[in-house]
Amino acid sequence: MKNCPSCGHERSQTETRCPVCGAFYPTLAELLAEEEAYELAHSWRGRWQKIWGATDKKQAVSAVIKQFWADLSLQGKFSLLVIFVFVFALIVTVL
Ligand SMILES: [Zn+2]
Repeated sequence: MKNCPSCGHERSQTETRCPVCGAFYPTLAELLAEEEAYELAHSWRGRWQKIWGATDKKQAVSAVIKQFWADLSLQGKFSLLVIFVFVFALIVTVL
């Protein structure tokens, strides 16, 4: 991170605190933990763990699907829709 996360002031490698706004810079360990948490929340392994560990599995699955849909870009949603339509058309023509 090259800038202060709170005010955007350019930070120097030796400072642990922003001289402008006084905010503490996140340490490498904090950044890694943050990244790991993000990775866990946005990977299939993390999602599976969340479902597996939940007592209410049905609610956990719907929460994961909702988050997956929210993470998906418009292009991603569109291509998913195209795949569904294609598969549906394939099934209809075979039947
Ligand atoms: Zn600052």
